[in-house]
Amino acid sequence: MSKSPIKYIFVTGGVTSSLGKGIIAASLGKLLTARGYSVTIQKLDPYINIDPGTMNPYEHGECYVTDDGAETDLDLGHYERFLDNKTSQANNVTTGRIYQTVINKERNGDYLGKTIQIIPHITDEIKRRIKLLEQIKKYDFIITEIGGTVGDIESLPYIEAVRQLKWELNDDALFIHLTLIPYLTAAKELKTKPTQHSVKTLLESGIQPDILVCRTEHHLNSDIKRKIARFCNVENDSVIESIDANTIYEVPLLMQKEGLDKVVLRKLGLEDNTEVELKKWQTFLDKLQNPSREINIVLVGKYVELQDAYKSISESIIHAGVENECKVNVEWIHAEEINKENASSLLSDKDGLLVAPGFGDRGMNGKIDAIQFVRENNIPFLGICLGMQSAVIEYARNVLGHTDANSTEMNEESSAPVINLMEQQKEITQKGGTMRLGTYDCNLTKDSKAYNSYLKEDIKERHRHRFEFNNEYLNEFETAGMIATGKNKENNLVEVVEIPTHPWFVGVQFHPEYKSTVSNPHPLFVGFINACLQNKK
Ligand code: GLN
Repeated sequence: MSKSPIKYIFVTGGVTSSLGKGIIAASLGKLLTARGYSVTIQKLDPYINIDPGTMNPYEHGECYVTDDGAETDLDLGHYERFLDNKTSQANNVTTGRIYQTVINKERNGDYLGKTIQIIPHITDEIKRRIKLLEQIKKYDFIITEIGGTVGDIESLPYIEAVRQLKWELNDDALFIHLTLIPYLTAAKELKTKPTQHSVKTLLESGIQPDILVCRTEHHLNSDIKRKIARFCNVENDSVIESIDANTIYEVPLLMQKEGLDKVVLRKLGLEDNTEVELKKWQTFLDKLQNPSREINIVLVGKYVELQDAYKSISESIIHAGVENECKVNVEWIHAEEINKENASSLLSDKDGLLVAPGFGDRGMNGKIDAIQFVRENNIPFLGICLGMQSAVIEYARNVLGHTDANSTEMNEESSAPVINLMEQQKEITQKGGTMRLGTYDCNLTKDSKAYNSYLKEDIKERHRHRFEFNNEYLNEFETAGMIATGKNKENNLVEVVEIPTHPWFVGVQFHPEYKSTVSNPHPLFVGFINACLQNKK
């Protein structure tokens, strides 16, 4: 819409990690898109891994996969869910990737004999990666979130790169700094000192934040806001309170109330003459906060203590719950805690079971016992990736009678390898970025549960796996009642399995959770939650 140059917004964080920079960036992005601007959000991660694909979820939380097959930070999931815009590899950059590019260029002789240094070579590469987004589309705004906390050694090159960029971009760039205002219960006081120190640290690197977003558990009165403004050289209306919210989906509205979008526009020299269209968002929030009914489902996974490991799944469940005007209570159960003896007591009064994706043998038997119980007791089931593979193994063991059935990931010697390594994976030895990643086509069988959820035959979904359904067993499965209702036409890979005689039993090799957004809840999750409602205890 605007003819003005692209505006850059850099988001940094101070005082502590986990303040929710991603949600603030996504909320600001939402407010700007709600005014008709085109926005993209990028995350710069200061760690040395090339991407989070090789990291344990305990280290990093979920690995989010984009359409183009990038394994990225989970904040990109928030960006897509809030803005309903696709992200790509260009939206997530790590120190590993920066150094890899620079070192490859050096080996290539591209630097013509120069000494390679953090400044300017690493910082130039960071700047190039930020500017790369301009080439994808003519965005009105590029929001760049800098991971980590100011003062970290690892963040320094990023801070320096955006300091230089601000110098080049001048009035077309601004800095938002997110900090924490702790409340001391004993003194009954909110404390601004950590924020003052954090801004000083930024100033030492030559960056004056334009806007401070202050996370707090209690409202900031105007005296505190004025005090922060005075000590940190920002205008009074540029101290934005970010109070703890009941749901992340409230944050864009809270930021609007605080005037974050208005201050951003003013500071970037744009007129505040656009209407903020948030009606649909508000309706979503109203339904989320006032559900008319509720259901109880179980999610079985390996990292249930760490809900970030299944971020996209839990958000997809929320979206689908709202679509069904229903609150979904999710009980997270560790796969290793389930067995044949306790499956009934854990699951019989539940309205549905979701088995999560994963890697490795740990907890496999628990997943299989849980699936057997819901299959035999007509409780709706959704299995995602390893969850689908577990359903196939369970069926092979308990229905087809292959007691030793397994995935070759878990047992290479299995006499019934019903899940095995994909042909293309057999030659691969490197671990990073080598799975079947990103979007692939899938063709659904008419009248299947999957088809009835999507209401179309041709779908595209994102993948992240090495193993797949072994087609040598397909006839045996289909004769016994588990059928393949979704396939990739090109190479005949089984992407969806179902049991038509069961009220709702669907396993998918792909990850529907990566594509659910507030404005477009994912049809499979909507279908699953609807089935849970229909079969409610
Ligand atoms: N470990 C399985 C595979 O590689 C499943 C992966 C997943 O659940 N994302 O095929």
